[in-house]
Amino acid sequence: EVVNGNSSCEGYLPKAEFYKVEAILRPWRLPHVATALIKMGIRGVTVTDVKGFGAQGGSRERQAGSEFCEEAFVVKVKLEIVVSQDQVESVIDTIIDEARTGEIGDGKIFVSPVADIIRVRTGERGRKAERMTGGRADILSTYTSSNNI
Ligand code: ATP
Ligand code: GLN
Repeated sequence: EVVNGNSSCEGYLPKAEFYKVEAILRPWRLPHVATALIKMGIRGVTVTDVKGFGAQGGSRERQAGSEFCEEAFVVKVKLEIVVSQDQVESVIDTIIDEARTGEIGDGKIFVSPVADIIRVRTGERGRKAERMTGGRADILSTYTSSNNI
């Protein structure tokens, strides 16, 4: 459930066929987020260990019981997920549902347009490169076609 959320907005600017959803999250929420993304058919995700500071600052995360350090950055994970435009909102909703504790430091999500995608193995570009076998588009089209029978 999204608390104080904005209504979802179609038509991102600048307009693009694909977007990158970049989420900076608490590391211990990653398994929950990843499981939910896989369940919804998101197969391509890049995860990076990062450090940063925001409203939470660097002073509120106690590390393994040791005393906090004013200067320390807070350890986070960054998820990068490139999806087609119509999948952006559901990816955002899933990340919020799974990552949110309601406490300061839950993280932030950035959305940006992606100009092109190239699959290295095949040289495919654009839509062909973005689609993943058994991915969300496949799941939804199977669901839709079986519903139409
Ligand atoms: P192939 O069919 O050749 O295996 P693929 O599309 O499945 O291609 P991989 O080569 O398996 O892609 O992906 C390599 C890495 O690229 C992944 O481990 C992941 O980090 C990243 N990646 C792939 N697709 C995406 C995506 N849509 N969004 C974010 N990261 C991705
Ligand atoms: N949009 C792709 C598909 O439906 C999935 C992209 C992804 O897993 N990041 O096949």
